[in-house]
Amino acid sequence: MGDRARRRGRGPIAGLVVAALVAAGCMAGGVDQGEPQRPAPPRSGQPESQTTRADGTTSVAEFQRDIQDAVRLAEQYWAQQFRAPGQRFTPIRRVVPYSREGEVACAGQGLPRNNAVYCSAGDFIAYDVNWSVAAFRQIGDAFLFYLLGHEYAHGMQVRLGGRYDFTIQQELQADCMAGAYLGDSVRSGALELEDGDLEEFREGLLAVGDDPDQPWFAEGSHGTAEQRSDSFFRGYEKSLGACGLR
Ligand SMILES: [Zn+2]
Repeated sequence: MGDRARRRGRGPIAGLVVAALVAAGCMAGGVDQGEPQRPAPPRSGQPESQTTRADGTTSVAEFQRDIQDAVRLAEQYWAQQFRAPGQRFTPIRRVVPYSREGEVACAGQGLPRNNAVYCSAGDFIAYDVNWSVAAFRQIGDAFLFYLLGHEYAHGMQVRLGGRYDFTIQQELQADCMAGAYLGDSVRSGALELEDGDLEEFREGLLAVGDDPDQPWFAEGSHGTAEQRSDSFFRGYEKSLGACGLR
């Protein structure tokens, strides 16, 4: 996916990505609301269409295309996994971009900037579009497939009714499931990787790892970079059977 020209080394915003996912993690909770809440006036939900060619960075149009591809691919993959008798697949209802703090709420709680979440209350994924574009430009297109794959996995965890004693179990499993989805999609031919894409996954996982000082049992812990990479690549290589789902 993507052309090699768009890949860039780790830039000066590396710290932004690290801080961002660590700070707020993936929310999964709440009980009541059916739709992402937005204050009036309603926004189109799309980032401004502009092209940034300087420094070989990629355009917002390409970003949007990759997001759409990533969502479609995840939906297709999980629909196939739910084909067993007695199972019924419902796609995640919406994928919502936002650009301001509190612009989108999950169960009455405004979402912070610089994050991507799955909100179980409304069964939607929301992502800070500016932060995501920055990560896309810094790390590459493969990062978006990982990010959407991870959030989509949270939606599947809810559908499968998993129970978790600690956030970190759920998060590392979501990384494994994201890896399985991507690895299986490559093996089936639904997704084609190019040189450098695996490296982008590695780089992305490094960027979203917890600070080493964070206790593993803390609420919001996602795992260290090493734990997250191990989980992701275990799923990537061995498929869903390695992710502890039942
Ligand atoms: Zn998560």
